[in-house]
Amino acid sequence: MRLSRYFLPTLREDPKEAEIVSHRLMLRAGMVRQASAGIYSWLPLGFRVLKNIERIVSEEQTRAGSHELLMPTIQSADLWKQSGRYDDYGKEMLRIRDRHDREMLYGPTNEELITDIFKNAVRSYKDLPQLMFHTQWKFRDEIRPRFGIMRGREFLMKDGYSFDLTPEAGRRSYNKMFVSYLRTFERLGLKAIPMAADTGPIGGDMSHEFIILADTGESEVFCHKDLVEMQAPGSDLDYESDLEPIISAWTSKYAATDEKHDDTEFESQVPEDKRITARGIEVGHIFFFGSKYSEPLGCLVQDSEGKQVAVESGSYGIGVSRLVGGIIEASHDENGIIWPESVSPFKVGLINLKAGDEKTDAVCTDLYETMSDSGIEVLYDDTDERAGAKFSKMDLIGLPWQIIVGPKGVAAGEFELKNRRSGERVSLGRDAVLARMTG
Ligand code: ATP
Ligand code: MG
Repeated sequence: MRLSRYFLPTLREDPKEAEIVSHRLMLRAGMVRQASAGIYSWLPLGFRVLKNIERIVSEEQTRAGSHELLMPTIQSADLWKQSGRYDDYGKEMLRIRDRHDREMLYGPTNEELITDIFKNAVRSYKDLPQLMFHTQWKFRDEIRPRFGIMRGREFLMKDGYSFDLTPEAGRRSYNKMFVSYLRTFERLGLKAIPMAADTGPIGGDMSHEFIILADTGESEVFCHKDLVEMQAPGSDLDYESDLEPIISAWTSKYAATDEKHDDTEFESQVPEDKRITARGIEVGHIFFFGSKYSEPLGCLVQDSEGKQVAVESGSYGIGVSRLVGGIIEASHDENGIIWPESVSPFKVGLINLKAGDEKTDAVCTDLYETMSDSGIEVLYDDTDERAGAKFSKMDLIGLPWQIIVGPKGVAAGEFELKNRRSGERVSLGRDAVLARMTG
């Protein structure tokens, strides 16, 4: 992409309305613009990141055996009345009437709808287990939308659902999602720690929030330090194998959000030098709720003895749009964003220090075209801004690599390759630069 042709409205100054660094940097880097309170437009640069995150989430869901579908944003109120949540949801639900005066709503989540889809298609235990997910915009009329896209009113969520015959089988589905979340967040370059969360009236231990530690997080969290160092299973993991050992390795160490936290237990289970008390951002939430929706919605299947039983379910959310901010909170410096390569909007920024100079232009065009042809995403700064402004802009938008080309380097046949995270710069010839980028 040539920057001269791109839409990248960056800001030099810190916007006054932004309280936290991710919000500030997303506005300054031209990633989003507020449309109204808690509702944002995603500009081209921000949208690329959002899509990259969505893709990684989908890949890991699919790997774990979940099937992607797409449900609508607008739902009828009927199913919500059957489940009892039409009233429970209160003012957070955006209620709409259509031209025939039918009660509709903008979905804050999809348990009712997916249960209804499932119920109308599946009759027998032989069709279980089943896992499905979609990534769709949600609307929740939050009392206090804030921190930009971190707590929006309209936001993008991956929500998945499991359907099983028995609670034991439900636990296996839960475990698959647990492990797929570990892998997903690791691929996104994040340390997300699964923490025991409130299960509500259902009880048990099958509710975890995945939390990244950050000073600007909205929740207070408590955990064992070793959890921060743990590694997610690799891509060769067989999801049909027994996942309990992995789950217990992660859950045998203390980790709880404030609602579940108990000081006495924390102190008795965790040595003092291993106790972390911090703020955290919730980026995912998995929850097993048994027959909470299948019973009121009549989602029954026939078991092997011919009996009609209510399906056992769980739901599994990831805050896809919140993650954009979460990644920035976890990965930035005083000059701007530092994208992990997996989600970066472009892999490399190519800076032409003397646009308009015939030789420099020719070298840059060659690098740009060669890299583009081999599938590398390049943002080529071919504008005639001064060098300082170009450097600041590239640092601000946080691409992992920068290639800097000026007339002196062109004469010497060498260009600078800069790593955004480490700041390290090396001088390399054309072929070496290309080898580093394609390798
Ligand atoms: P919170 O406690 O932050 O309100 P929640 O318990 O309401 O979250 P879930 O219903 O479990 O959230 O939604 C799944 C995920 O969607 C959350 O883990 C979070 O990452 C994301 N999410 C929830 N509400 C918002 C919001 N208002 N803006 C952006 N992301 C959100
Ligand atoms: Mg909420």
